[in-house]
Amino acid sequence: MANDASTVFDVVILGGGSGGYAAALRAAQLGLSVALIEKGELGGTCLHRGCIPTKALLHAAEIADETKEAAEFGVLATFQGIDINGVHKYKDDVIAGLYKGLQGLVASRKVHFIQGAGKLSSQTSVDVNGQRIEGRHIILATGSVPRSIPGLEIDGNRIISSDHALKLDRIPKSAVILGGGVIGVEFASVWKSFGVDVTIVEALPHLVPLEDENSSKLLERAFRKRGIKFELKARFSGVEYTETGVRVSTENGKQIDADLLLVAIGRGPVSAGLGYEENGVAMDRGYVLVDEYMRTNVPTISAVGDLVPTLQLAHVGFAEGILVAERLAGLKPVPLDYDGVPRVTYSNPEVASVGISESKAVELYGKDKVVTLKYNLAGNGKSKILKTAGEIKLVQVKDGAVVGVHMVGARMGEQVGEAQLIYNWEALPAEVAQLIHAHPTQSEALGEAHLALAGKPLHAHD
Ligand SMILES: Cc1cc2nc3c(=O)[nH]c(=O)nc-3n(C[C@H](O)[C@H](O)[C@H](O)COP(=O)(O)OP(=O)(O)OC[C@H]3O[C@@H](n4cnc5c(N)ncnc54)[C@H](O)[C@@H]3O)c2cc1C
Repeated sequence: MANDASTVFDVVILGGGSGGYAAALRAAQLGLSVALIEKGELGGTCLHRGCIPTKALLHAAEIADETKEAAEFGVLATFQGIDINGVHKYKDDVIAGLYKGLQGLVASRKVHFIQGAGKLSSQTSVDVNGQRIEGRHIILATGSVPRSIPGLEIDGNRIISSDHALKLDRIPKSAVILGGGVIGVEFASVWKSFGVDVTIVEALPHLVPLEDENSSKLLERAFRKRGIKFELKARFSGVEYTETGVRVSTENGKQIDADLLLVAIGRGPVSAGLGYEENGVAMDRGYVLVDEYMRTNVPTISAVGDLVPTLQLAHVGFAEGILVAERLAGLKPVPLDYDGVPRVTYSNPEVASVGISESKAVELYGKDKVVTLKYNLAGNGKSKILKTAGEIKLVQVKDGAVVGVHMVGARMGEQVGEAQLIYNWEALPAEVAQLIHAHPTQSEALGEAHLALAGKPLHAHD
């Protein structure tokens, strides 16, 4: 390996996804010299195989649903079907535009971008393209890839991962989705709108099991209404090929035939064979272990994003990347409060939350110290106009701050910005009740929920 030690960067970053590029941009902004190594495309999973393409598909799905339901609003429109190539073109154009913008941004900040598959070669260097790139500090940000179950082979055709689902050149008649978490639920929502007969198989008792149980139940009710089928507490036991598709079996004796199976049971870290363990980095089941400042046990190495066992979200990756950059530049960043991270499932209806669930609050504070309030969107003018159903549920510590906001309904993802201010500023219901919300907006529902929690409900029954 040629040792090109003439340049020693302040920071060498391995992986140019949300975590890696955020660290690069912030470090460069703070005057550090940065090398960013990426084997695929800058932007990583979120931009090319995650957040952005799924949300484009979900928007196309929303248009399909609105076209089908247009007559309910007195609009004459005929739904003629989905042109999947057209959908992909729209989605790919969105990605291409953002990709170009991101490449420009990285170049403009004078980040030294290196295209190639890198490997940690010492505690202060990464080897890539036959060159040794030295850094005073290394940030590991190699992200994650779809996981499967031992023995469940993803063939990319009839048994697929989200990577394949995003590029599928056909609309299947039917699909089984293994996993009722965020990714499974979003694809179920898209495919149903595109006319697919969808069944979700989830081992846990609820869809989106990390959410407050009330949100899960509301989503399940809405999905039932939409004709999205789901089997809960159903453990996958096997899949076999049939003449035209697959037959999925569960441990409770169910068999479901479909054109294809989407495996959406989660994502695992990308760390195998990358020299992490060899160079002394402490790991657990492939994840790199870090403290609250994203420091590994090796003083010169930090790690961020899906590679570390924190919430697998792009904005968590951004925040962790920024935190490391600021720490390395000598600033004093504050560790992340992971409960304060907004979470959105962009299905129809959307599920959005911040803070802790009621059950977690009861665990932390005791049952008699936890107050909850549910505000039904039926009382909210804008939600009525949109014909959406759902609820906002607040969790409060008795006589104290709001510690959880859980929302289900169309466009609720857009309300999570205010919800996160309420949680992160430890707002009291009376303080939020004091803020005037524009009428008619869906944010008003958040205001009304707090008015009710403060004991002065307006468009809600006492
Ligand atoms: C279908 C789907 C939908 C999602 N939707 C959302 C959403 O709506 N909102 C949200 O917040 N999050 C969403 N996510 C999660 C989000 O995409 C991830 O949390 C985020 O991409 C993690 O960023 P990262 O930088 O840690 O990893 P990644 O984005 O995976 O980036 C890691 C990068 O490292 C590169 N790399 C790996 N090994 C090497 C190597 N040896 N050398 C050089 N480069 C290497 C990879 O090519 C990759 O580009 C979604 C994910 C999926 C799969």
